[in-house]
Amino acid sequence: MVRIVLVQGDITEQQVDAVVNAANSSLLGGGGVDGAIHRRGGPDILAACRALRASHYGKGLPTGRAVATTAGRLPAEWVIHTVGPRFTQDEDRSELLASCYRESLRVADELGARTVAFPAISTGIYGWPMADGARIAVETVRATQTAVEEVRFVLFDTPAYASFEAALA
Ligand code: ADP
Repeated sequence: MVRIVLVQGDITEQQVDAVVNAANSSLLGGGGVDGAIHRRGGPDILAACRALRASHYGKGLPTGRAVATTAGRLPAEWVIHTVGPRFTQDEDRSELLASCYRESLRVADELGARTVAFPAISTGIYGWPMADGARIAVETVRATQTAVEEVRFVLFDTPAYASFEAALA
């Protein structure tokens, strides 16, 4: 079974095989985690994303899916880009959020990654309530069959860390 580790910090500094990016469907960069990954990882990541858009995802990467690129200058080997759902009161999009974690782990397995760092997908610009986002993240990772040995949730601040601690307990 996968070991779940919580860390408070910056996902771009993690020494893991793969870091997951809370991307948007354009794959061409954005704010939050996405901005930090492209800033610190350098232009090779964006070049790989543009190539993916041209070859496979002309309309963008659909919500809930995941795809890997180089990690450029990050300490990790790969970035796995996944597109979280925007939170809305009108519709339950939990299954799409769960799919981000599942699909990212599936891609990690394809790469042979053993350690994977995740941010709290959708809980920033996309507005998902942190406690619920943490619950879905932890439940989904626990329920997914994977050869990944360590999933590291990298939480930016103390409240996010506390939410994941509560979800794990
Ligand atoms: P989304 O658009 O999926 O909501 P964001 O990147 O806006 O993605 O936010 C996702 C979560 O990641 C938020 O909880 C945010 O506080 C956090 N976050 C932002 N920057 C970083 C970073 N460098 N490392 C780890 N977490 C981060």
